[in-house]
Amino acid sequence: RRAAFAAMKPLPPVTKDDHRVTVMVNAGLRDDVAALELTGADGIGLFRTEFQFLVSATMPARERQQRLYRDVLDSAGDRPVVFRTVDIGGDKALPYLDHDEDEQEENPAMGWRALRLALDRGGLMKAQARALIEAAAGRTLNVMFPMVSEPWEFDEAKAIFEAQRAWLAARGKKLPIDVRYGAMLEVPALAEVLDILLPKLDFLSIGTNDLTQFLFAADRAHPKLAVRYDWLSPAILRFVARVAKACSAAGVPVAVCGEMGGRPLEAMALIGIGIDRLSITPAAVGPIKAMVRSLDRGAITATMAELLAAPPADMRAALGGWAGDHGV
Ligand code: PEP
Ligand code: MG
Repeated sequence: RRAAFAAMKPLPPVTKDDHRVTVMVNAGLRDDVAALELTGADGIGLFRTEFQFLVSATMPARERQQRLYRDVLDSAGDRPVVFRTVDIGGDKALPYLDHDEDEQEENPAMGWRALRLALDRGGLMKAQARALIEAAAGRTLNVMFPMVSEPWEFDEAKAIFEAQRAWLAARGKKLPIDVRYGAMLEVPALAEVLDILLPKLDFLSIGTNDLTQFLFAADRAHPKLAVRYDWLSPAILRFVARVAKACSAAGVPVAVCGEMGGRPLEAMALIGIGIDRLSITPAAVGPIKAMVRSLDRGAITATMAELLAAPPADMRAALGGWAGDHGV
Protein backbone atom coordinates (compact mmCIF):
# COMPACT_ATOMS: atom_id res chain seq x y z
CA ARG A 1 0.00 0.00 0.00
CA ARG A 2 2.85 2.34 0.86
CA ALA A 3 4.28 1.87 -2.62
CA ALA A 4 0.86 2.53 -4.10
CA PHE A 5 0.57 5.80 -2.17
CA ALA A 6 4.08 6.84 -3.19
CA ALA A 7 3.07 6.26 -6.81
CA MET A 8 0.25 8.75 -6.23
CA LYS A 9 2.71 11.59 -5.74
CA PRO A 10 2.84 12.96 -9.29
CA LEU A 11 -0.85 12.23 -9.95
CA PRO A 12 -3.37 15.04 -9.42
CA PRO A 13 -6.34 14.47 -7.11
CA VAL A 14 -9.01 14.38 -9.82
CA THR A 15 -12.27 12.46 -9.45
CA LYS A 16 -13.40 9.94 -12.08
CA ASP A 17 -15.83 12.55 -13.41
CA ASP A 18 -12.98 15.03 -13.78
CA HIS A 19 -13.39 17.28 -10.78
CA ARG A 20 -10.14 18.62 -9.38
CA VAL A 21 -9.88 18.49 -5.60
CA THR A 22 -7.24 20.66 -3.92
CA VAL A 23 -5.22 18.67 -1.40
CA MET A 24 -2.93 20.70 0.85
CA VAL A 25 -1.02 19.90 4.02
CA ASN A 26 -1.06 21.19 7.58
CA ALA A 27 2.31 22.33 8.91
CA GLY A 28 3.89 24.29 11.73
CA LEU A 29 7.64 23.81 11.63
CA ARG A 30 10.29 24.82 9.12
CA ASP A 31 11.00 21.18 8.33
CA ASP A 32 7.33 20.40 7.67
CA VAL A 33 7.59 22.20 4.35
CA ALA A 34 9.53 19.23 2.97
CA ALA A 35 6.19 17.41 3.02
CA LEU A 36 5.15 19.41 -0.05
CA GLU A 37 7.83 17.77 -2.17
CA LEU A 38 7.40 14.37 -0.56
CA THR A 39 3.66 14.20 -1.09
CA GLY A 40 3.11 16.36 -4.15
CA ALA A 41 0.50 18.39 -2.23
CA ASP A 42 -0.96 21.60 -3.67
CA GLY A 43 0.27 23.86 -0.89
CA ILE A 44 0.09 24.46 2.85
CA GLY A 45 -3.53 25.09 3.79
CA LEU A 46 -2.76 25.66 7.46
CA PHE A 47 0.57 26.83 8.84
CA ARG A 48 0.21 26.88 12.62
CA THR A 49 2.43 29.83 13.56
CA GLU A 50 2.05 29.20 17.29
CA PHE A 51 4.51 26.29 17.12
CA GLN A 52 7.41 28.74 17.08
CA PHE A 53 5.96 30.45 20.14
CA LEU A 54 5.36 27.19 21.98
CA VAL A 55 8.91 25.91 21.56
CA SER A 56 10.49 29.21 22.61
CA ALA A 57 11.48 30.16 26.14
CA THR A 58 10.84 33.82 25.36
CA MET A 59 8.54 35.67 22.96
CA PRO A 60 9.99 35.14 19.45
CA ALA A 61 11.26 38.51 18.25
CA ARG A 62 9.74 39.91 15.08
CA GLU A 63 12.94 39.28 13.10
CA ARG A 64 12.90 35.64 14.13
CA GLN A 65 9.28 35.24 13.13
CA GLN A 66 10.00 36.88 9.81
CA ARG A 67 12.92 34.53 9.11
CA LEU A 68 10.70 31.50 9.69
CA TYR A 69 7.90 32.81 7.46
CA ARG A 70 10.34 33.72 4.70
CA ASP A 71 12.02 30.31 4.85
CA VAL A 72 8.64 28.63 4.61
CA LEU A 73 7.62 30.72 1.60
CA ASP A 74 11.01 30.14 -0.05
CA SER A 75 10.73 26.37 0.33
CA ALA A 76 7.11 26.32 -0.79
CA GLY A 77 8.04 28.10 -4.02
CA ASP A 78 5.00 28.54 -6.24
CA ARG A 79 2.72 26.65 -3.93
CA PRO A 80 0.47 28.77 -1.70
CA VAL A 81 0.91 28.90 2.07
CA VAL A 82 -1.87 29.96 4.43
CA PHE A 83 -0.42 31.36 7.64
CA ARG A 84 -2.69 31.18 10.64
CA THR A 85 -2.02 33.85 13.25
CA VAL A 86 -1.15 32.53 16.70
CA ASP A 87 -3.58 30.19 18.40
CA ILE A 88 -2.01 30.39 21.84
CA GLY A 89 -3.58 30.75 25.24
CA GLY A 90 -6.07 28.40 26.75
CA ASP A 91 -4.30 25.10 27.26
CA LYS A 92 -1.36 26.34 25.14
CA ALA A 93 -0.35 28.86 27.80
CA LEU A 94 3.05 30.48 27.37
CA PRO A 95 5.27 30.98 30.39
CA TYR A 96 6.40 34.39 29.11
CA LEU A 97 2.91 35.73 28.53
CA ASP A 98 1.75 37.12 31.83
CA HIS A 99 -1.55 35.49 32.60
CA ASP A 100 -3.31 36.82 35.66
CA GLU A 101 -2.93 34.41 38.55
CA ASP A 102 -6.52 34.95 39.61
CA GLU A 103 -7.78 34.06 36.17
CA GLN A 104 -7.33 30.30 36.25
CA GLU A 105 -9.45 29.07 33.37
CA GLU A 106 -11.86 26.23 33.99
CA ASN A 107 -12.50 25.74 30.28
CA PRO A 108 -9.32 26.79 28.48
CA ALA A 109 -10.55 25.69 25.04
CA MET A 110 -13.35 28.23 25.42
CA GLY A 111 -11.16 30.73 27.17
CA TRP A 112 -8.79 33.55 26.39
CA ARG A 113 -7.05 32.07 23.38
CA ALA A 114 -6.27 32.60 19.72
CA LEU A 115 -7.70 35.77 18.18
CA ARG A 116 -9.26 36.81 21.50
CA LEU A 117 -5.85 36.96 23.13
CA ALA A 118 -4.18 38.42 20.04
CA LEU A 119 -6.66 41.31 19.82
CA ASP A 120 -6.24 42.07 23.52
CA ARG A 121 -2.47 41.96 23.17
CA GLY A 122 -2.30 44.24 20.16
CA GLY A 123 1.50 44.46 20.29
CA LEU A 124 1.81 40.73 19.68
CA MET A 125 -0.55 40.84 16.71
CA LYS A 126 1.14 43.92 15.24
CA ALA A 127 4.56 42.28 15.42
CA GLN A 128 3.26 39.15 13.74
CA ALA A 129 1.48 41.16 11.05
CA ARG A 130 4.64 43.07 10.23
CA ALA A 131 6.74 39.90 10.22
CA LEU A 132 4.33 38.20 7.81
CA ILE A 133 3.97 41.19 5.49
CA GLU A 134 7.73 41.74 5.30
CA ALA A 135 8.38 38.04 4.78
CA ALA A 136 5.94 37.94 1.86
CA ALA A 137 7.41 40.96 0.02
CA GLY A 138 6.98 40.40 -3.71
CA ARG A 139 4.61 37.46 -3.17
CA THR A 140 1.02 36.81 -2.20
CA LEU A 141 0.39 36.61 1.53
CA ASN A 142 -2.48 34.40 2.69
CA VAL A 143 -3.35 34.96 6.32
CA MET A 144 -6.17 33.57 8.41
CA PHE A 145 -7.43 34.17 11.90
CA PRO A 146 -8.31 31.37 14.35
CA MET A 147 -11.40 31.21 16.58
CA VAL A 148 -13.21 34.10 14.92
CA SER A 149 -16.50 34.19 16.83
CA GLU A 150 -18.09 37.38 15.52
CA PRO A 151 -17.48 39.26 12.25
CA TRP A 152 -16.11 42.38 13.99
CA GLU A 153 -13.20 40.33 15.32
CA PHE A 154 -12.21 39.59 11.74
CA ASP A 155 -12.49 43.31 10.90
CA GLU A 156 -10.27 44.26 13.81
CA ALA A 157 -7.63 41.67 12.96
CA LYS A 158 -7.59 42.67 9.30
CA ALA A 159 -7.30 46.34 10.28
CA ILE A 160 -4.13 45.56 12.26
CA PHE A 161 -2.61 43.97 9.16
CA GLU A 162 -3.73 46.77 6.87
CA ALA A 163 -2.24 49.36 9.23
CA GLN A 164 1.10 47.55 9.13
CA ARG A 165 0.91 47.34 5.35
CA ALA A 166 0.24 51.09 5.11
CA TRP A 167 3.04 51.84 7.57
CA LEU A 168 5.53 49.83 5.51
CA ALA A 169 4.25 51.34 2.27
CA ALA A 170 4.74 54.85 3.65
CA ARG A 171 8.38 53.96 4.28
CA GLY A 172 8.86 52.70 0.76
CA LYS A 173 9.30 49.05 1.76
CA LYS A 174 8.70 46.29 -0.73
CA LEU A 175 5.24 44.86 -0.08
CA PRO A 176 3.41 41.64 -0.90
CA ILE A 177 1.79 41.64 -4.35
CA ASP A 178 -1.47 40.88 -2.60
CA VAL A 179 -2.69 40.10 0.90
CA ARG A 180 -5.63 37.70 1.13
CA TYR A 181 -7.54 37.43 4.38
CA GLY A 182 -9.45 34.43 5.64
CA ALA A 183 -11.23 33.29 8.77
CA MET A 184 -11.36 29.93 10.41
CA LEU A 185 -14.82 28.66 11.13
CA GLU A 186 -14.50 26.65 14.30
CA VAL A 187 -16.94 28.48 16.58
CA PRO A 188 -20.49 27.46 15.61
CA ALA A 189 -21.94 30.94 16.22
CA LEU A 190 -20.07 32.22 13.18
CA ALA A 191 -22.16 30.02 10.91
CA GLU A 192 -25.25 32.02 11.89
CA VAL A 193 -23.78 35.25 10.54
CA LEU A 194 -22.23 34.10 7.28
CA ASP A 195 -24.28 36.68 5.39
CA ILE A 196 -22.37 39.36 7.29
CA LEU A 197 -19.00 37.61 7.35
CA LEU A 198 -18.56 36.16 3.87
CA PRO A 199 -18.55 39.43 1.90
CA LYS A 200 -15.52 40.46 3.98
CA LEU A 201 -13.48 37.31 3.29
CA ASP A 202 -11.13 36.12 0.59
CA PHE A 203 -11.47 32.55 1.87
CA LEU A 204 -12.86 30.46 4.72
CA SER A 205 -11.36 27.41 6.37
CA ILE A 206 -13.40 25.07 8.55
CA GLY A 207 -11.48 23.75 11.56
CA THR A 208 -13.35 20.56 12.27
CA ASN A 209 -11.31 19.72 15.39
CA ASP A 210 -12.58 22.65 17.39
CA LEU A 211 -15.87 22.85 15.52
CA THR A 212 -16.75 19.29 16.55
CA GLN A 213 -15.84 19.90 20.16
CA PHE A 214 -18.04 22.99 20.28
CA LEU A 215 -20.95 21.52 18.32
CA PHE A 216 -21.12 18.46 20.55
CA ALA A 217 -19.94 20.25 23.71
CA ALA A 218 -17.34 17.48 23.99
CA ASP A 219 -13.70 18.12 24.90
CA ARG A 220 -11.63 17.17 21.84
CA ALA A 221 -8.89 15.66 24.04
CA HIS A 222 -11.09 13.62 26.34
CA PRO A 223 -10.39 9.90 25.81
CA LYS A 224 -13.85 8.79 26.95
CA LEU A 225 -15.51 11.14 24.47
CA ALA A 226 -13.23 10.43 21.53
CA VAL A 227 -15.23 7.37 20.50
CA ARG A 228 -18.62 8.76 21.41
CA TYR A 229 -19.29 11.25 18.63
CA ASP A 230 -18.52 10.60 15.02
CA TRP A 231 -17.39 13.09 12.39
CA LEU A 232 -19.78 11.26 10.10
CA SER A 233 -22.76 12.27 12.22
CA PRO A 234 -25.68 14.02 10.52
CA ALA A 235 -25.15 17.07 12.77
CA ILE A 236 -21.59 17.67 11.59
CA LEU A 237 -22.29 16.82 7.97
CA ARG A 238 -25.41 18.98 7.74
CA PHE A 239 -23.56 21.84 9.41
CA VAL A 240 -20.61 21.69 7.02
CA ALA A 241 -22.93 21.23 4.03
CA ARG A 242 -24.80 24.40 4.96
CA VAL A 243 -21.56 26.38 5.30
CA ALA A 244 -20.24 25.02 2.00
CA LYS A 245 -23.45 26.01 0.25
CA ALA A 246 -23.36 29.55 1.64
CA CYS A 247 -19.72 29.93 0.59
CA SER A 248 -20.44 28.68 -2.89
CA ALA A 249 -23.35 31.12 -3.25
CA ALA A 250 -21.11 33.98 -2.04
CA GLY A 251 -18.21 32.92 -4.27
CA VAL A 252 -15.88 32.45 -1.29
CA PRO A 253 -13.48 29.47 -1.49
CA VAL A 254 -13.93 27.14 1.47
CA ALA A 255 -11.61 24.44 2.80
CA VAL A 256 -11.63 21.95 5.64
CA CYS A 257 -8.39 21.98 7.63
CA GLY A 258 -9.27 19.74 10.60
CA GLU A 259 -8.21 16.12 11.01
CA MET A 260 -11.54 14.96 9.60
CA GLY A 261 -10.40 15.76 6.06
CA GLY A 262 -7.46 13.37 6.32
CA ARG A 263 -9.65 10.29 6.65
CA PRO A 264 -10.76 8.76 3.38
CA LEU A 265 -14.40 8.05 4.29
CA GLU A 266 -14.84 11.46 5.89
CA ALA A 267 -13.14 13.19 2.95
CA MET A 268 -15.42 11.31 0.57
CA ALA A 269 -18.46 12.58 2.48
CA LEU A 270 -17.04 16.12 2.51
CA ILE A 271 -16.58 16.07 -1.26
CA GLY A 272 -20.19 14.91 -1.52
CA ILE A 273 -21.39 17.97 0.38
CA GLY A 274 -19.49 20.51 -1.68
CA ILE A 275 -16.03 20.70 -0.08
CA ASP A 276 -13.28 20.49 -2.68
CA ARG A 277 -10.36 21.92 -0.75
CA LEU A 278 -8.73 19.90 2.03
CA SER A 279 -5.72 20.65 4.20
CA ILE A 280 -4.56 17.52 5.96
CA THR A 281 -1.74 15.82 7.77
CA PRO A 282 1.02 14.93 5.26
CA ALA A 283 0.76 11.18 5.89
CA ALA A 284 -2.85 11.28 4.68
CA VAL A 285 -2.14 12.82 1.27
CA GLY A 286 -1.50 9.48 -0.50
CA PRO A 287 -4.62 7.74 0.85
CA ILE A 288 -6.80 10.80 0.17
CA LYS A 289 -5.53 11.19 -3.39
CA ALA A 290 -6.17 7.49 -4.01
CA MET A 291 -9.73 7.88 -2.69
CA VAL A 292 -10.39 10.98 -4.81
CA ARG A 293 -9.15 9.27 -7.96
CA SER A 294 -11.53 6.37 -7.43
CA LEU A 295 -14.55 8.56 -6.65
CA ASP A 296 -17.38 9.76 -8.87
CA ARG A 297 -18.26 13.18 -7.50
CA GLY A 298 -21.69 13.28 -9.11
CA ALA A 299 -22.61 9.95 -7.52
CA ILE A 300 -21.40 10.83 -4.01
CA THR A 301 -23.13 14.22 -4.23
CA ALA A 302 -26.47 12.56 -5.00
CA THR A 303 -25.90 9.97 -2.28
CA MET A 304 -25.03 12.56 0.37
CA ALA A 305 -28.16 14.55 -0.47
CA GLU A 306 -30.27 11.42 0.12
CA LEU A 307 -28.43 10.37 3.27
CA LEU A 308 -28.67 13.82 4.83
CA ALA A 309 -32.34 14.23 3.98
CA ALA A 310 -33.17 11.01 5.86
CA PRO A 311 -30.10 9.95 7.86
CA PRO A 312 -29.60 6.25 8.52
CA ALA A 313 -29.01 5.13 12.11
CA ASP A 314 -25.40 4.34 11.28
CA MET A 315 -24.06 6.88 8.79
CA ARG A 316 -20.54 5.41 8.94
CA ALA A 317 -21.79 1.95 8.02
CA ALA A 318 -23.93 3.39 5.21
CA LEU A 319 -21.04 5.36 3.74
CA GLY A 320 -18.61 2.46 4.17
CA GLY A 321 -21.06 0.20 2.35
CA TRP A 322 -21.50 2.74 -0.45
CA ALA A 323 -17.74 3.11 -0.84
CA GLY A 324 -17.33 -0.68 -1.05
CA ASP A 325 -20.09 -1.00 -3.64
CA HIS A 326 -18.64 1.81 -5.76
CA GLY A 327 -14.98 0.77 -5.73
CA VAL A 328 -13.87 3.74 -3.62
C1 PEP B 1 -9.18 22.85 14.07
O1 PEP B 1 -9.59 23.28 15.14
O2 PEP B 1 -9.80 22.03 13.38
C2 PEP B 1 -7.86 23.26 13.53
C3 PEP B 1 -7.49 22.93 12.32
O3 PEP B 1 -7.04 23.98 14.34
P1 PEP B 1 -6.26 23.35 15.58
O4 PEP B 1 -6.35 21.86 15.45
O5 PEP B 1 -4.88 23.87 15.49
O6 PEP B 1 -7.03 23.89 16.74
MG1 MG C 1 -8.70 24.99 16.09
